[in-house]
Amino acid sequence: MSRVLRALFDALRLRCPQCHRGAVFASPFKIRTQCPVCDLVFERASGEMTGGMVINLVVTELIVVVVGSVYALFTTVPLLPLLTTLIIFAIVFPILFYHPARSLWVAILYLTKANTETD
Ligand SMILES: [Zn+2]
Repeated sequence: MSRVLRALFDALRLRCPQCHRGAVFASPFKIRTQCPVCDLVFERASGEMTGGMVINLVVTELIVVVVGSVYALFTTVPLLPLLTTLIIFAIVFPILFYHPARSLWVAILYLTKANTETD
């Protein structure tokens, strides 16, 4: 498995992209600052959570646009139930995808070596 695929797979498992064992999250809403196994820095500054938020937003909106377009253009589903479903999805999915999105950002920082640089 390539390094990129392995890092992304580890991100979805909420594991460290470097050692593949350390948990990224200490508690449901607390990301660790570094890996408890290999000391890889997960979050150098508090503002780095923005990357995970962007991943979460882009994935959510992409799904809403693609699914909404396909259903609106190629099916006879009434518009109101479709919009209601998509709005509920756009509210619930980012909450469920919070951990993988933050973990994916950690993997991207690891792959680009951005989390090993010093200021
Ligand atoms: Zn690690």
